[in-house]
Amino acid sequence: MCGIVGYIGYREAQPIIVKGLKRLEYRGYDSAGIALFDGKEINVTKTKGKVSDLEEKILNGNNTSGTIGIGHTRWATHGIPNDVNSHPHYSNSGDLVIIHNGIIENYATIKQELENRGYVFQSDTDTEVLVNLIEDVQKNGNFKLGKAVQVALNQVIGAYAIAVFDLKKPNEIIAARLGSPLAIGVGEGEFFIASDASPFIEYTNNAIYLEDEEMAIIRLHKDTKIRNITNDRLVSPYVQELKLNLEEIEKGGYEHFMLKEIFEQPEAIKDTYRGRLNVSKGIIKMAGVEDHLETFLNAQKITIVACGTSWHAGLVAEYVFEKLARIPVEVEYASEFRYRNPVISNKDVVIAISQSGETADTLAAIKLAKENGAFVFGVCNVVGSSISRETHSGAYTHAGPEIGVASTKAFTTQITLLTLIALRLAKAKGTLSNSDYKRYLVELETIPSKVEEVLEADKLTKMIGEIYKDASNFLYLGRGFNFPVALEGALKLKEISYIHAEGYPAAEMKHGPIALIDENMPIVVIATKYGHYEKIVSNIQEIKSRKGKIIGIVTKGDTQVKSIADHIIEVPESSELLSPLLTTIPLQLLSYYIAILLNKNVDQPRNLAKSVTVE
Ligand code: GLU
Repeated sequence: MCGIVGYIGYREAQPIIVKGLKRLEYRGYDSAGIALFDGKEINVTKTKGKVSDLEEKILNGNNTSGTIGIGHTRWATHGIPNDVNSHPHYSNSGDLVIIHNGIIENYATIKQELENRGYVFQSDTDTEVLVNLIEDVQKNGNFKLGKAVQVALNQVIGAYAIAVFDLKKPNEIIAARLGSPLAIGVGEGEFFIASDASPFIEYTNNAIYLEDEEMAIIRLHKDTKIRNITNDRLVSPYVQELKLNLEEIEKGGYEHFMLKEIFEQPEAIKDTYRGRLNVSKGIIKMAGVEDHLETFLNAQKITIVACGTSWHAGLVAEYVFEKLARIPVEVEYASEFRYRNPVISNKDVVIAISQSGETADTLAAIKLAKENGAFVFGVCNVVGSSISRETHSGAYTHAGPEIGVASTKAFTTQITLLTLIALRLAKAKGTLSNSDYKRYLVELETIPSKVEEVLEADKLTKMIGEIYKDASNFLYLGRGFNFPVALEGALKLKEISYIHAEGYPAAEMKHGPIALIDENMPIVVIATKYGHYEKIVSNIQEIKSRKGKIIGIVTKGDTQVKSIADHIIEVPESSELLSPLLTTIPLQLLSYYIAILLNKNVDQPRNLAKSVTVE
């Protein structure tokens, strides 16, 4: 995820682009850059850091004039955030310059082919590979830029929103998208290109939103041509009149970042397995795991260290690893692990999970594990973060920036990533039959659309929230893979609505919490099929006998829980192992709506911070 901005018109492009990038910083902010065409040459300024750092560099730089330009604020996926990896990227000849949001999955193969043909690369990015592929196609086919972009894009697998400029063909920018958003602002004698409309809303209300697989040839004083990249058909541009204000646009029309991030989960989960999961070939590939496969396979145990929501994702992973790969797993709070004398040696693998990659306690736990000789693997969202540097190896979740303090998409993408690792190890160890392995791969790919289906319970969840918003306590119960989901549901509610909530393994209820149950106690019970269904139905009966109010999270078509519960929210059918990716969603929505109904600040709840860099 990143923000892209382009301008072609009669005004100075630099201030428009820089201001636009600032508005897109919610999409990523680890480095930024701009390319400007001054009528003779292209000048690129780029830097690690935020757009304000770029602004400073521009102020101290030389030529930053020009009425054509493209700019980028990056959320690194390939290559650490540094000056060289920042966009825009030049092609080898220096004629083409590109900005890109997304991931080119087959970049390594293309890079190798281009290197064989003499191309040289400055950066570690997939983007630089793409711009050189375009150049190569352009030279070999003697194509115009538009055609070269089209042919090149037909060779890439992945996701992109790009803008490309050719020094030999000024007055033209080519833009294209697949899987990443791209809007074109249509002004009088000027055009804007951006990830959303916020960079150009004060200049024009007219926008064309490119659809997937479409490319636009944007020329000064000409009508914009739109073409389908695959079938080559011309598409008539649909110019919409925008009625949103700036803030609404930045949040993608959602009222809060948290809600936006909840709804981003289908895409975020896809981004996590993109380029790693190949269902038709039955392959899971992650360099960070492949390079250390033996270490994983020889591990006497895996210890997961994490805090907060990441710790809950670790608990889900414990169930997943043990079931699939038959490796014993322990899950530890990083803050506890670091201060005791854990039994860890060079036969252990430690997995550290942190969205930000900066969590102080997790960092300290990593250092301790390393001192004890363990191999440490990091699971983070933020590329280039301290944890990703401190660990021996790792993998990013690629969930895109998470702004809402209460973690949502970080949780589901961490579970997705850890499940991929467990499946890869199970395959290597032979602890899973081939047919079961295949079945999980196929099912994993259906999860994003199932999450979309769960998100349709949005209104129902709000209605349930309305009924219980004034409760002083909530209980969340689940068993097996869904026990950690109950913990996470309770945490979400506490974090943003300030209502006391407890998560419990459903059977443990009898050993204490049952004493709390009366007619004022709402109890969220995760009771999907293929878990411990009959057992949990009995637990629900026990609650009912004590007049507790039951909100059941059930598998679509369930009748048994429906007949006892006060409310049910349905999720699509799935294996028990992958069900946490679905059952979590209504719990996130429930906490969101209760907090909203109580007028709480969901994106910045009191006393909390997004990244806990103090112990
Ligand atoms: N894959 C590209 C990179 O790592 C673009 C990432 C983005 O969308 O910011 O540079």
